[in-house]
Parts: sequence; structure tokens; C-alpha cells
Amino acid sequence: SHLVDRIAAGEVVERPASVVKELVENSLDAGASRIEVQVGGDGTQRLLVTDDGHGMTPDSMRLAIERHATSKLPGEDLLTIHSFGFRGEALPAIASVARFTLESRPPGTESGWRLQLDGGELLFDGPAGLAPGTRIAVEGLFARIPARAKFLKSPRTEISAIHDTLRRLAMAHPNTAFRLLHEGRRLLDVAAEAEPGVSGLARRVQALLADGADMVPVDFLRPDLQIGGLAGLPAASRATSEHQYLFVNGRPVKDRLLVGALRGAYAERLPAGRHAAAALFITLPTDEVDVNVHPAKTEVRFRDPARIRASLISAVRAALEAAGI
Ligand code: ADP
Ligand code: MG
Repeated sequence: SHLVDRIAAGEVVERPASVVKELVENSLDAGASRIEVQVGGDGTQRLLVTDDGHGMTPDSMRLAIERHATSKLPGEDLLTIHSFGFRGEALPAIASVARFTLESRPPGTESGWRLQLDGGELLFDGPAGLAPGTRIAVEGLFARIPARAKFLKSPRTEISAIHDTLRRLAMAHPNTAFRLLHEGRRLLDVAAEAEPGVSGLARRVQALLADGADMVPVDFLRPDLQIGGLAGLPAASRATSEHQYLFVNGRPVKDRLLVGALRGAYAERLPAGRHAAAALFITLPTDEVDVNVHPAKTEVRFRDPARIRASLISAVRAALEAAGI
């Protein structure tokens, strides 16, 4: 029922940035090579996400706006840290608290299709012209839910949360092109990196971070734990904790344990309260990470936190020492 959707949405659709995260993750899941996000106002007025992914047929579009209608394999659940509690909840939850237009056209088909909903109510179900891929517009987010709108911060803060969300997703997917426009102004624009692995990642991090050039490669390899990426040089670092990009099994996370480990790694190299930039990717078996945390948070729980902490510290220190720092 729509009431159930709205309750689910109240828990998980916190702010425009959480909508952007869900829609862009879907675009990535659809194999998009180019993703564009357009934002109007503070993001509640208008969000438009366009991708060139594999698209949806009209039937799968109708299914996608029903609760728990995922097309993804059940096994994928265990591999990914999903910000929604259940598979297949994002689109109906978002659609229940906004005006929602879903347009899609699988590559190789003649034309596209459009579904238009308002507050979860289907208003239009018919053909539409668009390029191959998917385009989703979310307008008037929370307009009918003043209790939720009240929790939003200033437009500037909401836009910067969207910017941060997209920057983190762009960092985790160097081979995809991303663009973010706010009222037509370009906030982020990165081309797809052709090079795989750390060199592609390094170029992407450089494109996204102002001080990306002053970083050294991290390459820590154990049988069931891998830590790779880039660590900032402590000298002349103007970085804040905002410049620390941490990923677990490819997903952006903001985790206290990891942030603390990073601080530990630089303990003798940075004055207290100072930070170094970092883009670190931690890969470990899925049964070593607990994804059973609050759906709207990006924190993770490790089975062996002491080991993760110690490994991250030695990975970063080894990288700095190798660079003679
Ligand atoms: P989930 O991602 O957990 O499956 P969602 O509610 O986010 O659930 O999406 C529901 C379904 O809609 C997806 O499983 C997918 O089949 C389809 N879908 C959503 N967004 C896109 C997209 N951008 N391109 C292609 N298919 C999509
Ligand atoms: Mg999804």
C-alpha cells in the first residue's frame, strides 16, 4: 500500500542526496557508461538522472515501481552494502514522496516508454521519445510531507551533500563518465578513464580532488584482504576529513573505525586535528563484513575490526615510507 511505501520512505529517503545515491547506483547496476545528474533548487524541487544503461521494458518499469520488485539476483544482496533495507525498495519509496517520472528505452529498441506518478499514484503509462537508457525525474520531493521537509538543511548544505555523494560514487567507478549540474552550473564533470586498475583510479582521484597530485599509491595485498588506492602526503596538507574517501567492496562508506585507523596511520606525521586526503579501497570476503546496519547509514561492521585497523595503518605507512616520508 502507499502508506507502507511512505513509512519506508520516511526511514530511508532522508534528503535529496540519498535519492541521488539510489538512482545513480541503479544506473551503475544497469551498466551505464555515462551518468548525468541535474539538480534544481535545493534538490527537492528537481532531480534528473540520465544514464545510457541497459534500460527497462515497459513491463519491467511497471514492476520496478511496485515494492520489492528487484530484477537483481538474490546473491547480489550479500555482495553489496545496500543503503535500503530490502532489494527493490528504492524506486517505490522515492515515488511515494514526490512527483516521479520514469522513462526508459533499452538499446536496440525503436522508442521509449514513460511512467508518471504523483505520491505513488500512477498518472501516465505510455510511449515517450528518448535516447537509449533511462531518465528519472524526481520533483517536489517531500512537498506533501512537511514533517520531513523540516529536517532538511540549507540549500547550500543539501547541494554539497549531493556533490559529495556523486564524487564518492565517481571515485569508485573510474570507467564511467559522471556529470553534475546545479541550475545549469557544472559542479562535477569527469570523463571515463580508459585505463583499468590503480592508474585509472589515480587519474580519476586527481580529476576529483584538488590536491590529488600529492598522493602516493597504496598497495597492500593479503590472501583475504586487499587495501589499494591513494594516500595523501602529509606535507602541506590542507585536507579535511571530507577529503577522505573510503570504500568497502567497491561501495563508498563513512566508517568511524576506518577514519580512526587513517588518523592512526598519520599519527606521527600530522599534528593533532589535521587530516590527509585519501582514496582507499578495501576488499575482503563478504562474510567478513556485516552489512546488517541501519539502512540509511553507510557504516559497516567488520568481523575482525582490530585486524582491519592494523592492516589499514600498515598499508598507509608502508606507502608513505616507500615514498621516503
Ligand atoms: P534494486 O536496485 O534494489 O533492485 P530499486 O527500487 O532501486 O531496487 O530498482 C528496482 C528495479 O528497477 C531494479 O532492480 C532494476 O531492474 C530497475 N532499474 C532501476 N533503475 C534502473 C536504471 N537506471 N536502468 C535500468 N534498470 C533500472
Ligand atoms: Mg537500487
